Amino acid sequence: MANPAVLDGSGADPLPDGASVGVIGAGPAGSFFALHLLALLGESGRTARVTLIDRKTFSSSGPSGCNMCAGAIGHAMVKKIESLSLAIDASVIRRIVDGYEIHGMDVSVTVRHPDRGGIYTVFRGGGPMIPRGGARSFDQYLLDAAVSRGAEFLHERVDAVERVSGGYRLTFPGGTRRDFDFLVGAFGVNSSISRKLEFGYVPPATWHTVQAEIPATGKFIEERLRNRIHIIPGRGKRIRFLAITPKDDFLTLTGIGEHVKIADLEKERMKNMALASLMPEGANVACHCHPQVPVGVALRPYSTRMAIIGDAFISRYLKNGIESSHDTARILAEAITRHGISERALAEHFHRPCLGLFRYDNVWGKLLFGIYEGMLRKGRLSDAYLEAVNREAAGGDMAQAHILWSVFAGDSPYREIARDALAFRTLLKLAGTLSRGR
Ligand SMILES: Cc1cc2nc3c(=O)[nH]c(=O)nc-3n(C[C@H](O)[C@H](O)[C@H](O)COP(=O)(O)OP(=O)(O)OC[C@H]3O[C@@H](n4cnc5c(N)ncnc54)[C@H](O)[C@@H]3O)c2cc1C
Repeated sequence: MANPAVLDGSGADPLPDGASVGVIGAGPAGSFFALHLLALLGESGRTARVTLIDRKTFSSSGPSGCNMCAGAIGHAMVKKIESLSLAIDASVIRRIVDGYEIHGMDVSVTVRHPDRGGIYTVFRGGGPMIPRGGARSFDQYLLDAAVSRGAEFLHERVDAVERVSGGYRLTFPGGTRRDFDFLVGAFGVNSSISRKLEFGYVPPATWHTVQAEIPATGKFIEERLRNRIHIIPGRGKRIRFLAITPKDDFLTLTGIGEHVKIADLEKERMKNMALASLMPEGANVACHCHPQVPVGVALRPYSTRMAIIGDAFISRYLKNGIESSHDTARILAEAITRHGISERALAEHFHRPCLGLFRYDNVWGKLLFGIYEGMLRKGRLSDAYLEAVNREAAGGDMAQAHILWSVFAGDSPYREIARDALAFRTLLKLAGTLSRGR
């Protein structure tokens, strides 16, 4: 351990100068944590030895180098990256899409936020086939930024975690070990390490999703997809929603449901006409994966000198996972630099604020997704609803279009969206528009 003398064992004080901090996982949560921690320590003239550890190389192509997501980054996340004095450059952005298109059976609605600009799409690894010259994945970009500001990167798999006097010991393949004064778990929900922690941590409940990368030309994306992300309700039993997220020369097709397999996605491609019409003819899947997505909250994600952030703890329900990982990372960095590294300090200054941000809001998220899923999966009813939204929008009333944007794309808390969506006046007006028919 770097400097045991400065640690009295109770962890009641903030992270001391010169402490060693190990971070399991260099995905967004791990890198954002390192960036915030180093910035906060720098402000108060302190330092720490921060080691980001990951089994993956984010420049490799295929699932082995990728943290498996659709890669849509909204306006609020871009602003938070900029607030770290970083700019996402053209080498990372694979496309700037200008909105979302939400589909029913035969009708669709385009939703855009007037003030929010485009949505960036990125790859999380080196891309589906071969790494592209001059291009960088989003995770590599964040990791490079953390390393350039003083973090160390260790390309290793953590095999075991053990509590030792004054900190934690990590064991790597081959039996090598390293001790840290403070340990951060940023290992996501696709890792078996979560089962090897001894202090009562229980990972969040997850859904098993599917993703496929499908080659597409820029012309197809511009002309057929109109350079937008498309949300399509599933027609089979297993997939609730599908999303098409365009990159430069690929479409990421995501199927969300409790337990979805690639065969379910292939069935949707054949039977779901709204989806089939948005796919390039005869295109084959170049790469696919089955990542998990958290739909609950972890139990006991902290203990003295240790805390768990990102997906492995909590995130906004089915939306903005990268931004959520940023938020839990920032809250932890503030907690340990300003308050303490004891279980009590972490309960008060890390666990409670993170739950405050997401847990109750996610109850509203589940309700809203349930309502809109129910409506959009109902064939003719979905078309009647989307026609009503289009009619209102044509008359200059964007209320329903804005609600749809917020549910599927926006970054406002779900309780604020629910307040607008379920307001008596909004419902009455919608009922009126629906009853006037076509
Ligand atoms: C299908 C799908 C689509 C999504 N689309 C979006 C989207 O469009 N926009 C968005 O904002 N979010 C999206 N998300 C959510 C987003 O992917 C996550 O919220 C985000 O990746 C969480 O970041 P994290 O750092 O907590 O975990 P991860 O990104 O999973 O990173 C964890 C890291 O830990 C490493 N690791 C794990 N175990 C070990 C070990 N034992 N030793 C060493 N390293 C280890 C892994 O290699 C990995 O790099 C999507 C998720 C899914 C499943």
